[in-house]
Amino acid sequence: MRLCENGLVGDSMRIVDVKVFVAELEYFEPFTIALGTSTISRNVVVRILTDEGIVGWGEASPSRRITGETVESTIYAVKNYLKPVLVGKDPICVNDILKEIDKNLQGHSSAKAAVDMALYDILGKNFNLPLCKLLGSSKNIIVTDITIGIKSPKEMAKSAIEFVDRGFRTLKIKVGTDPLEDVERVKAVRDAVGDKIIIRVDANQGWTPKQAVKTIKKIEKYGIELVEQPVPWWDLDGMAFVRENVDTPIAADESVHSPVDALRLVKSKAADIINIKLMKCGGINKALKIANIAEAADIELMIGCMGESTLGITGAAHFAAAIDLIKYIDLDSDLLLKDNIVVEGGVTISRDMRSLPSDSGLGIKKIAQNLIKDA
Ligand code: MN
Repeated sequence: MRLCENGLVGDSMRIVDVKVFVAELEYFEPFTIALGTSTISRNVVVRILTDEGIVGWGEASPSRRITGETVESTIYAVKNYLKPVLVGKDPICVNDILKEIDKNLQGHSSAKAAVDMALYDILGKNFNLPLCKLLGSSKNIIVTDITIGIKSPKEMAKSAIEFVDRGFRTLKIKVGTDPLEDVERVKAVRDAVGDKIIIRVDANQGWTPKQAVKTIKKIEKYGIELVEQPVPWWDLDGMAFVRENVDTPIAADESVHSPVDALRLVKSKAADIINIKLMKCGGINKALKIANIAEAADIELMIGCMGESTLGITGAAHFAAAIDLIKYIDLDSDLLLKDNIVVEGGVTISRDMRSLPSDSGLGIKKIAQNLIKDA
């Protein structure tokens, strides 16, 4: 019998091995945010193997500027600190395993997110349910925005038109390099796409609190749904000041990684919305806890991503479909990448609608072996 911490569950399954791969995926064009520019996304793919032949897939997209992780540190963490906890365990006991991993290693949220995702993949496959259904979802389609990186106002307007022509109804525009040019960016995009398109703005910590208030007041007339992370991540007082002084809802992204951060944000009244990213919080298990805090605090939720391929985006999409409180969906990084490691299965896109797969677990059916290299 399978023995979890609190009792018997059923016949036991065991994790027999954990494989780690690296994938280097090129962006269609250099992607710039206030924190820097990326031309490729270097991700870590994890495959957990069990003695019953069920395999779980997960992906980490480490962001050194946000979580302090590199590809190398992520690979090292999975191989040396997560794998030893996993091997020999029953993968169904997800809560116990993740608790032990947290005890064994502080931080390394993307590495943990990849393992968490692979465990939930196995859980879904074991019970023959798509992960979103296992999490209680009644939805199988979610609507995403699409992100436009920082460029000249004219270039951003051009990208905006292209995305609207492809069927996107919500644009997330990156700003935060220069307050005056940022206003021009928002104006150029609004002028280009007309009134029916929703515009979200993300400053990625690029403004001081006073610059943020001044700039947000100027862009409010262009019809802005929300402004994400106007000030540095550590400055909750500054973000509360911004929130007090503008009409536009403020979303916290880099300021909230963990459930503990979420609680601190609630107490500081610094934001109206929390942007959950699996890569920041350590996976679905922790994301559920943030969602619970947000619900109790009457704070809205957004779900976002780093540079995940369709594999990691699929994990986040299953979670997003299951959590009603998630009103803002920003699951688009794979759409900005030229290469796709998911050959068959995973979430698909039609206009701005992402369909969840109906296969069990994450629903990833085939991974491009030529795009993942042994790490
Ligand atoms: Mn953001």
